[in-house]
Amino acid sequence: MPSAWAGPLPEATPPADMAIYQLPTGTYETRAAFAVCGGSFRDKRQFASTAILVQHPKGDLLIDAGFGSDVAAHVAALPLFQRAPYRAAKTVSQQFDAGGYDRARLLGVLVTHSHWDHVSGLDGLRVPIWMNSGERHYGAEDTGGKVFRTVSAGHEIREYEFNAVPYLGFPSSFDVHGDGSMVVALAGGHTPGSVAVFVTVPSGKRYAFIGDLTWQLDGIRRRVERPLPLRMLADSDPEQVRQGLLRVIALAGLMHVVPAHDLDAYDGIPRLPLG
Ligand SMILES: [Zn+2]
Ligand SMILES: [Zn+2]
Repeated sequence: MPSAWAGPLPEATPPADMAIYQLPTGTYETRAAFAVCGGSFRDKRQFASTAILVQHPKGDLLIDAGFGSDVAAHVAALPLFQRAPYRAAKTVSQQFDAGGYDRARLLGVLVTHSHWDHVSGLDGLRVPIWMNSGERHYGAEDTGGKVFRTVSAGHEIREYEFNAVPYLGFPSSFDVHGDGSMVVALAGGHTPGSVAVFVTVPSGKRYAFIGDLTWQLDGIRRRVERPLPLRMLADSDPEQVRQGLLRVIALAGLMHVVPAHDLDAYDGIPRLPLG
């Protein structure tokens, strides 16, 4: 058990009209036995594929893109062992239209990493993809970037750089708006450029969107990694994932931690209002 983060919480001055919304785009089914150590084979989990919209007066950003309209083709492009039954809901693009969202506000999609279930919805969003150089290389070259290469075609890549400024135990970070309201920390290991995104809203509430450091809240609550065979299959560097997971576990009492695929973790985050 890592000791809880004892340092000060980093300063954040989110503007009053900043807000976050969740845009759930569907789920796919995985057995808990394959998701976390100690999970049961009979325990079927619906893995969320949900985008987060961070609205900010300097420009909005999505964290991940969810399922897109071509999700069937994206699932079919996966290796057999990765294919799972899925249910698609409205894409981010369709939810934007239904909500009358002004797309001119959207600066881009900041991806936690380039795996299919985080980028499929880029196919309906004509905006820059925000990523770091490590993830850019992974997405361009690794077999895990196959769907990314399809959906990112024609998109501008906006490559951001980390500063050697530690953030909540992570050694490097990127403060998106310069006010501490949205800070990206390098949390590699699942893929080389995987990130955790820390968001602080005007009420002072803090969120940690940790991508696939762990897939389910069990990983935080019970402090367990993925089962070993899945670590070998799914992670570029399992030891680095363990370090990142321990850092997030130390923060769990101080903020709302959201593993990308845990449906319950999104409870309390509002949906995009209908226009
Ligand atoms: Zn992943
Ligand atoms: Zn994932």
